[in-house]
Amino acid sequence: MGIPATIAIDGPAASGKSTVGYYLACELGYLYLDTGALYRAVTWAALERHIPITDEDQVTTLAESLDIEVLPNHDHDDGRQYTIRVWEQDVTWALRTPEVDHAVSPVSTYAGVREALTQRMREIGARGCVVMVGRDIGTVVLPDADLKLYIIASAEERAHRRHLDRLAQGEETGYDDVLSDIRRRDRIDSSRDAAPLRAAPDALIFDTTELSIEDMFERVLHIVRHAHRQPEPFKPGA
Ligand code: C5P
Repeated sequence: MGIPATIAIDGPAASGKSTVGYYLACELGYLYLDTGALYRAVTWAALERHIPITDEDQVTTLAESLDIEVLPNHDHDDGRQYTIRVWEQDVTWALRTPEVDHAVSPVSTYAGVREALTQRMREIGARGCVVMVGRDIGTVVLPDADLKLYIIASAEERAHRRHLDRLAQGEETGYDDVLSDIRRRDRIDSSRDAAPLRAAPDALIFDTTELSIEDMFERVLHIVRHAHRQPEPFKPGA
């Protein structure tokens, strides 16, 4: 058997799952789908249309019909992993603002929003050769994925990484604010009724707290390359 055709990667915010997933997809020549971007796109569109985030019915109706395009990164040199377009507008960076960060976890608790987006994710997953990254990919979206990874890191380390990202983008958010937002999102994501954040029973759990991006990637690649390897045949007398 060869490399797994569908790879599900889940984990909390800033655990390193998107970076690892993206590198892995590039290495394998697979499609990369960051499903958090879809929840962010719905959230961005709701904010843009001045729909109150607490209005579940209106936000769900928006999610059901929203025109979201996910395009592989071709010609951009601004560090993006893909391009997201909503209403034909490039919103890739607009999805990363503190306003969207703040509102996205409540939006993702709405069962109707999850249903609409899960449907789109499954259609993409069914094509195979995909690395899909999120919170519930191994448990709900692709429960039959060939390989499931669950990537974790301490909340402090994750806040440190997110803080550095923000500074690199020229944002002046303080470390303590980033940490408390990460803890708040962990709490909402893990305790919601619909598809809460948790590892699938058959996921490999991988702690990246002490690892650089390079080490993370190398280890995950090793896991992927050996995931489907058959046991050595038994040789009598060997
Ligand atoms: O991964 P990212 O931080 O971009 O995800 C944004 C939010 O989208 C998460 O905090 C979570 O609430 C939600 N999400 C989800 N299920 C997924 C992916 C993301 O609920 N599969």
